[in-house]
Amino acid sequence: MTERPLIVAEGLRKVYPKGVEALRGVSFEAHPGELVAVRGRSGSGKTTLLNLVGGLDRPDEGRVEVDGRQITELPEAELLGLRREVIGFVFQTFGLIPVLSAAENVGVPLRLARVPAAEREERVRVLLSLVGLADHVNQRPYELSGGQQQRVAVARALANRPRLLIADEPTGQLDSQTARQIMELLRVLVRSEGVTVLVATHDPGLIGLADRVLELRDGVVTRVG
Ligand code: ADP
Ligand code: MG
Repeated sequence: MTERPLIVAEGLRKVYPKGVEALRGVSFEAHPGELVAVRGRSGSGKTTLLNLVGGLDRPDEGRVEVDGRQITELPEAELLGLRREVIGFVFQTFGLIPVLSAAENVGVPLRLARVPAAEREERVRVLLSLVGLADHVNQRPYELSGGQQQRVAVARALANRPRLLIADEPTGQLDSQTARQIMELLRVLVRSEGVTVLVATHDPGLIGLADRVLELRDGVVTRVG
């Protein structure tokens, strides 16, 4: 039996204003429980690809299917719902809310999803333990190291049990040892939570942990490994 792919991207083309062709016909699939790395130099189109797959932007040509849904055709309101329920995002700059504690940051998506308080608190506790921050629940982002902040961001991205985690250079601001720990955390999460991870990185040292590597050059996939 072949399992249905979680991501199907076909013939993606993206042209930005002023005519920059960021993607020139990109196709790939990712299966449930896979960790897929997208590598390529700065400007090769990684962020553009992740944004199209995550429904943050729309392609000029081609289509994206996530978890059986044609996201390229969804109206904005449904896209918003899909982004909240099916996809979790992690960014290079962490994106935590400075005035909120680690626990409150992780709880934000659960509040938006109107999860009742008791259940929310339990889920937050489990998530922060999962990322190794059980002893830091009440600290604010500025009281945490960069690696710890990114762990909070990963926990937050997983709050609504997404099927897909999209991480755009999640280790770009971290030293190499901390970067490695975050990648290993993603690796563990793929197994324990059954989530599929699509991660952009240009760090060759981190590529080894991926199940598959998609190599982008000037908006074209040059290698699938
Ligand atoms: P990467 O993430 O691999 O560094 P990007 O997807 O950010 O690559 O960028 C791919 C190309 O598209 C680059 O040439 C970049 O300058 C261009 N680009 C990205 N975003 C925009 C934008 N909003 N407007 C115009 N050009 C853009
Ligand atoms: Mg980028």
